[in-house]
Amino acid sequence: MVSADPKIVVVGAGFGGVAATIELQKHGFSDITVLDAAPELGGTWLHNTYPGAACDVPSHLYSFSFAQRRDWTRLCSPQAEILDYLRTVARDYGVDRRVVPNTEVTGCTWDDSTQRWTVSTAGGHTIDANAVVIATGQLNRPAYPRIEGADTFAGHTFHSARWDHGYDLRGKRVAVVGSGASAVQFVPEIAPIVERLTVFQRTGNWFLPRENRPYPAAFREAVRRVPGLQTARRRFIYQYGELLTAMIRNPRSLGRLGHSQSSRFMRSQLTDPELREKVWPDYTFGCKRVLFSSAFLPALQRDNVELITDAISRMTPSGIVTADGREHDVDCVVYATGFATTGFMFPMKVVGAGGRSLDDVWADGPRAHLGISVPGFPSLFVMYGPNTNTSGGSIIVYLEAQARYLRQALQEVRRRGATAIDVRPDVEAAGDRQLQGRFAGTAWMQCNSWYRDRSGRIVTNWPGYMREYEKATRTLDPTQYRLIE
Ligand code: NAP
Repeated sequence: MVSADPKIVVVGAGFGGVAATIELQKHGFSDITVLDAAPELGGTWLHNTYPGAACDVPSHLYSFSFAQRRDWTRLCSPQAEILDYLRTVARDYGVDRRVVPNTEVTGCTWDDSTQRWTVSTAGGHTIDANAVVIATGQLNRPAYPRIEGADTFAGHTFHSARWDHGYDLRGKRVAVVGSGASAVQFVPEIAPIVERLTVFQRTGNWFLPRENRPYPAAFREAVRRVPGLQTARRRFIYQYGELLTAMIRNPRSLGRLGHSQSSRFMRSQLTDPELREKVWPDYTFGCKRVLFSSAFLPALQRDNVELITDAISRMTPSGIVTADGREHDVDCVVYATGFATTGFMFPMKVVGAGGRSLDDVWADGPRAHLGISVPGFPSLFVMYGPNTNTSGGSIIVYLEAQARYLRQALQEVRRRGATAIDVRPDVEAAGDRQLQGRFAGTAWMQCNSWYRDRSGRIVTNWPGYMREYEKATRTLDPTQYRLIE
């Protein structure tokens, strides 16, 4: 039996870690330590500072339901505004004083005899805990492409998620490898200042408009003063997200609507037929993340910008060589190649009951009950875990649901005077079967994407709607768990 106030370690001080800590605090848990490898809290919004970094989910929904802000400057807030929001919420709720920065967690090990976790850090320290919340996110480890000769390149390189603000791009010949969600945000920002920009696209994307101009003063005033306006906008954006999910879930019916809206928008933006053909995606609308940008396609049509769709075959000291044999000499290569997603919290070593490592348990791909609990890993909870990413909503909605759910699990431990709680393997297996079955016929199954692991199984995304996830996690069913006395 543990004390009424168990020792809880939260790994990661981004939106997930902050959400979990606030929820636990609200319900009387007070022995909480939040560890983060970075020098301060913020998670993805601390690391991703590339020019034009912003959230493409409107801020009314990409914010905590319990900490609504009425002074967002535009529909989709820029990185600095979101980071400021998260810092403010963390301060208001006293989370900031629990954060131990510059503390990289290297391992979490369950001890069967003491029935406690030992959390180890890169600095050689260990911390004992009754429960661990892993809130390291799905998008925290930059992925670099393996390109022959990359190490021979004599120019400058960096990843979009670790933008090198010390390197002056003005007047440089710059290559951007990748054309996903990050690239479409920074390409329009840097195109006007560089001498030449060469964008290497492997796969085209579906686009929808996003102007994102600052709100007019009168509108901001209205949001501030008119009761219910903020709530109504949040509800509307929530429903819009659900509609996007409905399009992805039903590619043959509603998905056609999204497809035609996107096609119309893209045609209106792409006046050059040759470029249009190069940009056009060859997969079902919604299979990969739909990109919201009204600035990217016009940027590709600038005189100093070129889109290359020939595959990259190698790099040389002076640049990039494509499969057609063409040499693209550049001064700098920006990798906008996304993140190592499907390994989740690796390379952190997590060892559960019976000395079984999570690597082994997840050898065939990561999976967890509701994305949160893994059998054999008692009182270990994952925020933004397997199959909880969203293509049509706000991850903050999911994080709040996960925080509520894991808080209930720890309340159950407290109520029963137990030491830990472990999800039943049969419950996890049945849930996973049902969840995977729900991908059948959806757009997600119709192309290759970072949502899938090597076997093709979708391991990152939730197959349904936000409302379904909220419902599934609203009330923890104790019969699905085994209490460790
Ligand atoms: P991403 O969407 O995964 O895009 C990576 C890009 O790099 C893709 O165009 C990909 O091509 C290309 N690529 C990857 N490996 C390559 C290789 N070896 N050779 C050539 N090209 C390669 O990554 P991201 O843009 O950083 O975004 C990742 C996720 O972060 C998004 O899906 C989203 O969830 C999140 N994000 C969100 C926002 C937001 O506003 N909410 C903004 C940025 C990022 P393929 O398409 O062919 O794989």
